[in-house]
Amino acid sequence: MILVLALDALDPDLVDRFRAEGKLPVLSRLAERGRLERLRSTFPPVSLPAWSTFLTGVGPGIHGLFDFTRLENGRVCFQTAADRATPTLLELLDRAGLRCASIGVPSTYPAACLAHGAVLSGFDSPLAGRPDARAMQPLKLWRELGRAGVDLRTSELPEGRKGRGWHRRARREILASIERRVAQTMGLLARRDFDLMLVHFQAADTAGHHFTRYFDTSSLRHDSRHPDRARVIPEVYGALDRAVGQLWSACGDDATVVVVSDHGMGPASDCVVYLNRWLEQQGLLVTHPAPLRRGIQLLRSASLRWLPRELQARLFRQLRHSLVPWLESRVRLRHVDLEASAAFSEESSTFPGVWVQDPAREDEIFERLRGFDAVARVYRRRDLYRGPERERAPQLLLELRHPLVRTPPGYRGPAVRRLDPAEFDGERGTGLNGVHRPEGVLLIGGKRSAVERARTPWIGDLAPSLLAALGVPIPTWMEGTPLEELAPRPAYTDTPSDAPALPQSRLSHRDRARIDRRLRALGYLE
Ligand SMILES: [Zn+2]
Repeated sequence: MILVLALDALDPDLVDRFRAEGKLPVLSRLAERGRLERLRSTFPPVSLPAWSTFLTGVGPGIHGLFDFTRLENGRVCFQTAADRATPTLLELLDRAGLRCASIGVPSTYPAACLAHGAVLSGFDSPLAGRPDARAMQPLKLWRELGRAGVDLRTSELPEGRKGRGWHRRARREILASIERRVAQTMGLLARRDFDLMLVHFQAADTAGHHFTRYFDTSSLRHDSRHPDRARVIPEVYGALDRAVGQLWSACGDDATVVVVSDHGMGPASDCVVYLNRWLEQQGLLVTHPAPLRRGIQLLRSASLRWLPRELQARLFRQLRHSLVPWLESRVRLRHVDLEASAAFSEESSTFPGVWVQDPAREDEIFERLRGFDAVARVYRRRDLYRGPERERAPQLLLELRHPLVRTPPGYRGPAVRRLDPAEFDGERGTGLNGVHRPEGVLLIGGKRSAVERARTPWIGDLAPSLLAALGVPIPTWMEGTPLEELAPRPAYTDTPSDAPALPQSRLSHRDRARIDRRLRALGYLE
């Protein structure tokens, strides 16, 4: 049996540091019996594309998921597994008759119907934790667990502003989410046998986004006045280490254990970037004249104005989560005159890119972006991705030195703004205080490797490795290279694999609102 622990955002430097301090005894024991190394993520190093690459063995140019959202006719749409162009490891193993369980992995909603396995979708599902066939398969099994008292919910952070008590509640919720995930997995292990058990924990990601500035003394946003908050990240790493130990012993000592993270985490700078503002200053982006812009800003409130006041209040409470995000997605680029602009950005905090309207100007805009001091690197889409889906990505992609935030309509300030210390925590418009880093962790425990690696492994290497480790031939369309300790003698197949058997489920307004709310609470959407 193979147990894969998908520890979102587990950072290689923090793992080294906490191991040296003796805080991660289980991971240390595993590393002594295996290999602990860095793992290269996707670009961007974000959950949805990265876990999709983990599941499919191909990059976003082939599987087609670049971010939580995608731009379609100027409108922001949420992406789900139904938008993925390639089958996953789970489906390939299932077709070969193997039993897989996938618990809480991002990008697995709607849940694939596995003949022999079980799926519980992740925090990006609009139904996280509610017994529904779109989020859990087979539903009968999860209902059984629910009746046995297993809490099937996925973590949700306290909503709203970070007022008094928010950090205490967030800490409690993050730690509780780890225990819940262990209980869900234990419940499943007690009822069925599996060949592959894949379990995702979001805790290090959430803790990293919201608590890095209290913990990391090198952070430009550091605040040393809250020792209780400074303890949260070490506490979460310790709790994850114990969870790995619990699940490892439940699977038996001869199980192969793989710990993998989709990216790392580090401190954000004390500035934010308004990319569309910079494009405007460069004369590349044109905004609508003020009256129209104001009109769009008023749309949100005006849309409810025709209702009697008491109804307005009630309706607004009910619609808050469906109508407002929908309007926002329509508003997001409406103040940009797309036809008159040479370039614009969606200003997605997780996927900073620039769409170039006129292909003839790509080189010029590339060079100008390279001269922008907030930009660490500029990539061309065609150099980063290959595959039929790459045109879903903007032509130019950026590695920024500061968090990207949305340019408010009418904003006339500088394109790079230094934050006021009161903004350091990461409220809306100020960027999260912990940000993703492109290298995660790979720990293959229980097997020794005789060979040295010539390169840093890539997150897309895991799917072919796991297939081969379970005796299933690797489809030749996979881009990843099997890792020798898992797959010493990989076999390949040329047989084209069908598209995944996913229920065709369009997201309703309410679904979109739920995803929106969760991503906002986690800090992904501005
Ligand atoms: Zn994250």
